[in-house]
Amino acid sequence: MAAKKKNKKATVAPSPADNRDFRTGELYAPAPEARDHATIEARYDLFIGGKFVPAENGKVFATVNPATEETLSEVAAAGAADVDRAVAAARKAFPAWSRLKAAERGKYLFRLARLLQERAREFAVIESLDGGKPIRESRDIDIPLAAAHFFYYAGWADKLAYAFPGRNVAPLGVAAQIIPWNFPLLMAAWKIAPALACGNTVVLKPAETTPLTALKLAELIADADLPPGVVNILTGNGSTGDALVRHPDIDKVAFTGSTAVGKRIQKALAARGTPHTLELGGKAAHIIFDDAPIDQAVEGIVNGIFFNQGHVCCAGSRLLVQEGVAGTIIRKLKRRMETLIVGDPLDKNTDIGAINSRAQLERIRELVDSGVREGASLHQSAQPLPAKGYWFAPTIFTDTAQSQRIVQEEIFGPVLTISTFRTPDEAVDKANNTPYGLSGGVWTDKGARIFGATRALRAGVVWANTFNRFDPASPFGGYKESGLGREGGLQGLAPYLHLLP
Ligand code: NAP
Ligand code: MG
Repeated sequence: MAAKKKNKKATVAPSPADNRDFRTGELYAPAPEARDHATIEARYDLFIGGKFVPAENGKVFATVNPATEETLSEVAAAGAADVDRAVAAARKAFPAWSRLKAAERGKYLFRLARLLQERAREFAVIESLDGGKPIRESRDIDIPLAAAHFFYYAGWADKLAYAFPGRNVAPLGVAAQIIPWNFPLLMAAWKIAPALACGNTVVLKPAETTPLTALKLAELIADADLPPGVVNILTGNGSTGDALVRHPDIDKVAFTGSTAVGKRIQKALAARGTPHTLELGGKAAHIIFDDAPIDQAVEGIVNGIFFNQGHVCCAGSRLLVQEGVAGTIIRKLKRRMETLIVGDPLDKNTDIGAINSRAQLERIRELVDSGVREGASLHQSAQPLPAKGYWFAPTIFTDTAQSQRIVQEEIFGPVLTISTFRTPDEAVDKANNTPYGLSGGVWTDKGARIFGATRALRAGVVWANTFNRFDPASPFGGYKESGLGREGGLQGLAPYLHLLP
């Protein structure tokens, strides 16, 4: 990275083409240099039974950099025969892994966590290249949190008896795990770490558009000398996931993704009674009371919706502002939106990176068009967007109605809807008025208002005077159509165990 230069007083226009941070005046590293920190092979195979092997039918697919539309690598596309092989490898590894002394299992997880920390920079660059997220986020949030997850569950491996006092615990067996593209490595860590700590073996399927960090993790798993077959990684598309879920020899499904696919999986598993956890979509209400610290709240709103381009299941995508402060908040928010830098994900000054895929960009556009058609007022940042790649300007909607699609449906992009309320009860009614119930946020100076609102919100996670903060020790999960079960924390262990009397 380029040396930092102290020049705090310089005022420089917020242009993505400029090589200086307009807030601090510091020079920032040009993108190609950051890219040098990552090795991406031209071709990746599946990771089955501790070995990298091609798909049995020889099929591959391309993973692209959404910021440039360039192909980064070709990746093996697992078919049903590969799912068979991976499940068989996980089955074969299960008896020895589950009987291994728990402290030894913990050691493997500690080793993985440390390896991940050592190679954090490479993982961060690859995460940003493959998925489009700003390097500042992959470097400071995604990768460190993924390592923290391994550390956290490594610690539980030999303490399960303390986690569930008076109960006998036993692992479930082979866990099928399917993850989305918005936090690829972090979601892999959320899935793999608790499963292994509890003594299960795993077949993990990353999302089609972001397979690379899971495959890099497979390299670390091999480096950590995990017994072959304990973790298997199958890249592919939805049909790979479908074949995995329907495989007769799996004992558990852990899925993170859309509510639509989650429902399909639930139906497929219902007849067999396979235990499952589902982490699905969201449409979080972010509630600003009139006594909130305004400038901090505006930063919280920005982080709530524009973090990771709004590709966040728990994004604060529905802003509810108390009438007395609505004018001020909206004015400040519009001004702040203009300063957000949209552009090169590898540039450490970038606030908003690329939209993950063309398909997701089209979905965002379609929903935003519907908002305009249904009468909401659109405000977008006037910043220029790069010509190549998938981009969407930060957007807010005012004059919204509860019935509009933009207010009801998950957009999963940098798009915020704003409505107002008079009383706390009205805020809670509006907040709970969706089929989702994953997260929420409250900004106020009064503890009573925080506790009142958090009790009344039907949401798995509620932040107060902050938003989008994560910690491995705190459970995460949804009500209603946002899912089933919890991940993270002590609660994240139970779904990987038989709890016997
Ligand atoms: P998605 O389309 O449901 O895909 C999620 C994963 O499932 C991907 O690996 C996908 O493979 C795979 N898949 C697709 N069809 C499948 C099928 N029929 N059977 C089994 N697996 C299948 O969701 P997404 O678009 O990747 O992710 C965005 C969604 O995830 C949003 O709704 C978001 O809210 C949700 N999400 C929830 C949480 C949470 O913790 N609650 C966290 C992150 C994201 P391909 O990618 O290869 O198609
Ligand atoms: Mg990609």
